[in-house]
Formats: sequence, C-alpha cells, structure tokens
Amino acid sequence: MKSGFVSIAGRPNVGKSTLVNNLMGRKISAVSPKPQTTRTRITGIISLPEAQIILWDCPGLFHTTDDFNKKLMKIAFSSLRDVDILVWIIDSTLPHHKNDEYILSVIKRMTSRTKSTILITFLLINKIDKIKKEEILPIIDYYKDQFDFTEIIPVSALIGTNVVLLKNKIIEHLPEGPLYFPEDTVTDIPEEILLSEFIREKIYLHTHQEVPYASGVVINQIRKEEEKNVLYIQADIIVNRHSIKKILVGSKGQMIKTIGMTARRDIEIYVGSQSKSPPKVYLELFVKVKENWKEDSYLMHNMGLS
Ligand code: GDP
Ligand code: MG
Repeated sequence: MKSGFVSIAGRPNVGKSTLVNNLMGRKISAVSPKPQTTRTRITGIISLPEAQIILWDCPGLFHTTDDFNKKLMKIAFSSLRDVDILVWIIDSTLPHHKNDEYILSVIKRMTSRTKSTILITFLLINKIDKIKKEEILPIIDYYKDQFDFTEIIPVSALIGTNVVLLKNKIIEHLPEGPLYFPEDTVTDIPEEILLSEFIREKIYLHTHQEVPYASGVVINQIRKEEEKNVLYIQADIIVNRHSIKKILVGSKGQMIKTIGMTARRDIEIYVGSQSKSPPKVYLELFVKVKENWKEDSYLMHNMGLS
C-alpha cells in the first residue's frame, strides 16, 4: 500500500481548488473566479485499493507586507512543509506572474535546506484548454531550466486533461505507507469551516472589489432535526463597515438573498452526497458590522485562521 500527503500550492486563481475537486470527483473546496477564496486549509482524501492520497489545498501564495495577509501566508507555507509531494500549479495563460517568481524562490529555498523533507516536486501547467498547443513547450522549457522538477505536467483542471495521468504519477511517487484515514473519509475539515467556505465562495461570486476582503463568515449554529429530516444552519457575515453591509444586504435584501440561496444549493448538494436521504437545508444569514474584526482573536479562531 502506498500513502502520503500531497500539497497543492500556487498563487491565487491558478486552479488549485478546481484541481482538488476534479481529483476528488466531488465538490469540497471553494471555486471562484476571483482570487483568495480558500483561506483555510482544505484536506481531501482519496482512498483507492492500492493507495491513499491526502490532499492539502493551500490558500493562494503571494508576496505581502500586510499583517493579515502575512498570517494567511504563514498558514499557507506551513502546509508546504513535511509533505511527501509538493504540487505547484501555474496558469499557462499567465506563466510568468511576479508571484510565481516569488513562489519559485521559496520552493528553491525550502528544498535546498537539508532538513526539508520535500524531495518530490511536480509542476502543473494548468488551463491548457485556453492556450494553443505550441505555446505549452516554451513554458515547459523555461521552468525546466529554473528547477529540477520531478514531473512537469500540462493539465486542464477544468476539463480534466491529464488529471488521471497526474493521479497515477502521484501514486507512483508516494512512499509505502499505512491507511492514515478510514477508507470512507472524504475530508477532515470541521463542518463549520466547510460550510463557511460555501458561503464565502458566494460572497466572492456575487460581490466586487473590496467586499469579499472585508467580510468573514462565522457559523453559529448547525442543528439537525432528525424526525423532520431538516438541517438548520445559522451564520453571520461579519464586515468592518456599514457601507459594506449595505452592499451585502443589497436593495430590498436582494444580494443577501442571492448569496443565501446559491450557498444553500451547494450545501444541499454536499450533504446530499453524504447521506441516502438528504435533509432539507435551511440557511439563515445575518450581516453584522464589527470594526477591526481581523484583530479579534476569537473571531479569527472561529474562522479557522488562528
Ligand atoms: P484557486 O484560487 O487556485 O483555488 O483557483 P480556482 O480553482 O478557484 O479557479 C479559479 C478560476 O479558474 C475559476 O474560475 C476556475 O473555473 C478557473 N479554472 C481553473 N482551472 C481551469 C482550467 O483548467 N481551465 C480553465 N479554462 N479555467 C480554469
Ligand atoms: Mg482555491
């Protein structure tokens, strides 16, 4: 039996969550057209007869001087340590982004240190469905010169091109190891974090500019009523200013209604995949103003950020 930990890293928006979802064959992490949705570490577990792959979907990596973002980066880089395989994703439509140069320098630094356990590093060139075939080779050549990657694989996380190949390459390079989790475990993230990710994703999808960055989601209640087969969830969206609250609530409450409806649909799909008779989901959302919520250690803890 082969088993081990694989961390999926890259700057925001390159397709990390899409890849994890495709590898897992079900939706577990937030996918958004805007950057920085995945703030917390999402673990997906793939159990096969011959192997168990434990996936860490890292928050987007980028160079920062801001205190809040530094905290995010600390969480992100900590998930790169002590893994068996590091999978670094770049976007083939923007293959030389300045944050990629930064990440590459970190990878070089981490792997050159003797105490680092990462020896196997994959480079994925993603979104190849968006570029011409002849544009792929120059990107491969460029990165071949930069670092001695174990594998360089062009993929499309969205369409699934080379995803099976990737899975096989991962298994090939995993060490012999035990079953770390029971075979039927899909993820080990706390339910609250998973649910808040679904809601956070919809904030990103439906609002713009600074709104997602000024918002946090806290799950206050998850109540299962077995007789009625109902799942009741109450969550707060915490924002730092009244002007942001106004945008999130929207005219006649239209925006919060849209966020709640679309998030509830995703949650229903998720709980539906977990049970034979899926419960009806009720999601109640409130928007609350709390200045400086990012300095509140209790809130940060509840959001999985401490
Ligand atoms: P993350 O921030 O790295 O986790 O990126 P996401 O997985 O959230 O993806 C960001 C955006 O890129 C979403 O709109 C995805 O649908 C899109 N995307 C991801 N992979 C691909 C791909 O292979 N091809 C195309 N065309 N779009 C992709
Ligand atoms: Mg993501």
